[in-house]
Amino acid sequence: MPQRAKARNQFWAVAAGGGAAIAALTATLHLMAADYDRLALDREQTVVNNGMQSRAAEVGQQVVPQAVWDDAVVNLDNRFDRAWAHDNVGTYLHVTNGFAFSWVLDARDMPIYGMSDGADAALGDYDRLAGPAARIVSEVRRKEADRSAHRANPGAEPEAAIVANTYDLIGNDLVILSATLVQPDFGSARIKAGRAPIILTGRVVDPAFVESFGQRYMLADAHLHHDDTRLEPDQAHAGITNSADRTVATLDWTPQQPGSRLLGKFLPIVLAIMAGLLAVALVAYRKNHAATKAVVASEARALHIAYHDALTGLGNRRAMDGRLSEAFTAVATGGPGYALYSIDLDNFKELNDISGHAVGDELLKNVARRLRRVAGQQGLCYRMAGDEFALIQFETDPNQIGHRAERTLKILARPYALSIGRFQLTATIGVAFAHAADTDSGEALRKADLALFAAKRDGRGRFALYEPAMDEDLRRRRGLVEALRRDIQAGALSMVYQPQVDRNRSMIGVEALVRWTSTEFGPVSPAVFVPLAEESGLIESLSAFTLSQSFKDSLRWPGLKMAVNISALQLKDPAFADRLLTLAGETGVSPTGIELELTEGVLVDRGQGASARLDALREAGFSIAIDDFGTGYSSLSYLSRFPIGKIKIDRSFVIDMGQSRSADVLVKSIVQLGRSLNMRVIAEGVETSDQWLRLAAVGCNEFQGYLASRPVPAEDIDRLYAGERIQVAGQDPDYAPEHHRVAA
Ligand code: C2E
Ligand code: CA
Ligand code: CA
Repeated sequence: MPQRAKARNQFWAVAAGGGAAIAALTATLHLMAADYDRLALDREQTVVNNGMQSRAAEVGQQVVPQAVWDDAVVNLDNRFDRAWAHDNVGTYLHVTNGFAFSWVLDARDMPIYGMSDGADAALGDYDRLAGPAARIVSEVRRKEADRSAHRANPGAEPEAAIVANTYDLIGNDLVILSATLVQPDFGSARIKAGRAPIILTGRVVDPAFVESFGQRYMLADAHLHHDDTRLEPDQAHAGITNSADRTVATLDWTPQQPGSRLLGKFLPIVLAIMAGLLAVALVAYRKNHAATKAVVASEARALHIAYHDALTGLGNRRAMDGRLSEAFTAVATGGPGYALYSIDLDNFKELNDISGHAVGDELLKNVARRLRRVAGQQGLCYRMAGDEFALIQFETDPNQIGHRAERTLKILARPYALSIGRFQLTATIGVAFAHAADTDSGEALRKADLALFAAKRDGRGRFALYEPAMDEDLRRRRGLVEALRRDIQAGALSMVYQPQVDRNRSMIGVEALVRWTSTEFGPVSPAVFVPLAEESGLIESLSAFTLSQSFKDSLRWPGLKMAVNISALQLKDPAFADRLLTLAGETGVSPTGIELELTEGVLVDRGQGASARLDALREAGFSIAIDDFGTGYSSLSYLSRFPIGKIKIDRSFVIDMGQSRSADVLVKSIVQLGRSLNMRVIAEGVETSDQWLRLAAVGCNEFQGYLASRPVPAEDIDRLYAGERIQVAGQDPDYAPEHHRVAA
């Protein structure tokens, strides 16, 4: 979650950055445009100011043809001809050039003629012009004086006109005032005194004037205001000054503002492009980020898969190994100790085989859920493989551990509601502590497994805490396995045979029993080394020896049944029947002389395959006996399913006979069951004559046990077979087997 929030923040940071960049660019462009506008405005104002001056000069120049003219010198200076002035100054300038007024001033700058708006004016009217005109008149006079001072021969050739102009307010009108000196042109006229007359004119700056001015200088919406007024802030202004440098009017117009116009035109485009780029960048960022996130997520997923069990979601073996080595490093450096629980489900295989893997998976998930609860906060709960689980708990108090183990067993033993219905199982637990003295983290696991193994051997459904004796035991077992392997190869094992007799003590068969006396361990019971051979993969070579030896020996005693023990694991082998038949063929033994002793478990556990194999063997002539009958399973249905010829009542029932009435009853019903199924019944472990008599009393006709004879070497059976009597420890001579050779 915080990762995602961070990504979102980054996204907005990029977006904000882009936005800020666009805003900055926009602002910069605006500043540039404003700057440009200001420059342009300055230029416009300069142009307008210059334009107004040159317009005034142009207006002034219109008077020049009337003033620089010999006739004007003659009629205004040499003598004053009022009619001439009326025609050629007043009327002409008014009609031809549109002057509002015109005056003729004499050498003393006093008015001698005036016309205003096309009519002769009273000389007194000049008073209102005298002030505004004073400066331009005196400027003309100054230039006139300058010229006469610097020219040696005035009037010898045409002189340039002397004109001065200014703007000023006259009444309500803005007027261009022009003062023009009267002087000769190409003729011979001469000014009579030192100073010449001056023609003073006024041209009103009316709207038409302003408009034509605006057109000439390309000013939009040009218009005038009186005085120094800058009323419209978005307009450009040019002040118009009079000769005293006072602003008497203001020309306003709409400035061109080329910067703003440019900006208005291009900014939207620039903004659109920038926004587009930003959007593309953001989309790219998003995509890139999503891709990165996907990579990170898939890496996390791969990591999760690598360290988790897909079915239950618990940590897997690898995860546990990692955690263990961490915890062990801590322990080795004085950190907290921990206990490792190795947990195995007892009858999981059964469920898996009978109900299928889907149901098995269902159960495993349920178990995982319960174990998680047991694991508590630390949650260090793992699935190692199949139905094996493990817990790591940071506790070292044996009481606490015992308590937790018991609780775990109890929780796991509660019924499971599966899709096939209720199911119950037990579990077995082995626990070990990690010790600072351990060589590595794997040692705790090994010890826990050892404890688990011990607990299983003690009967499952329980827990065991590791003890050093278990290691001793393991070492011993390992030693035994190695010695057994060597001795099987070396042919150091041997067979003994125990006679089976009928009511008349007549020997009807023998049971082949393997013997092993190890140089290292002394005599070892087959009850110990046969299961060991099964666990360690030696059962095949072991049974290869026992079967071939007993088959061969059976040839010495024609007519005697040879009973051989077949372990559960042997029957699992699909090639077992073939192998047995091959052996019979090789040794020349008829299968009809061989009886296979199987335990009930073999028949109950393995359904179809075993049934077919047994049928094949039965077909071939082998007979089949159930060993240890009555100890294993409550179900008797297998009795009718398999081709069984004989049942062997287990020694435990025989021992109880005479001790409790129920034992006699039980044995009696077993005998009756066998009879009714058309099977023969033999009792094993018969040690006393009392047992013999009681067995005989309930209908048992065959006997095997120390009372008749212990298992003996083949040579002893030879002697018995030959009709001799042999003496064996524990034997009651009254029950000693005899062999009555049946005459062929
Ligand atoms: P099992 O098949 O039930 O064999 C009977 C066991 O009872 C034998 O022990 C035998 O010596 C012993 N026994 C016979 N009569 C008496 C008696 O009156 N009193 C007492 N207390 N014991 C008696 P053993 O020879 O030690 O064999 C133990 C088990 O080892 C056998 O039990 C059998 O399951 C297995 N076994 C022995 N030999 C072989 C073999 O060649 N192949 C296989 N697969 N298993 C064998
Ligand atoms: Ca047996
Ligand atoms: Ca037995």
